[in-house]
Amino acid sequence: MSKRQGPPKHQNRYAWKPNLNQKINETEPGGRFRPLSEITGVCQRCRDQIDWKRRYGKYKPIVEPAKCQKCGKRAVRQAYHNVCRDCSKDLGICAKCCTRVNELVGRLSEVLGKEKDAPFFAL
Ligand SMILES: [Zn+2]
Ligand SMILES: [Zn+2]
Repeated sequence: MSKRQGPPKHQNRYAWKPNLNQKINETEPGGRFRPLSEITGVCQRCRDQIDWKRRYGKYKPIVEPAKCQKCGKRAVRQAYHNVCRDCSKDLGICAKCCTRVNELVGRLSEVLGKEKDAPFFAL
């Protein structure tokens, strides 16, 4: 019988895992019963940023509509967006970073659903 059960030499070798001890409440936004709405109206980079926040539990869903930086109306309904959906569509800008973009996510996915033959791997 070998008795080699002492503490390992390197105690902190384990990788940091997000949400390891955080029990996700399934009825909260983002939980299984209330999935977060799709990220739309932003450029790919901002979509990735928001997606990252969601995955690492840093995403704060919007509580009340925020003020649009373009038209000044309280019409921003997605968290981390600075511009309302209408302005982002009309001006062709990302609702988060306000960069002029040709393809906003959301609208793009609708198109992709219809044109499955699109050679997007050639990008
Ligand atoms: Zn607006
Ligand atoms: Zn953006």
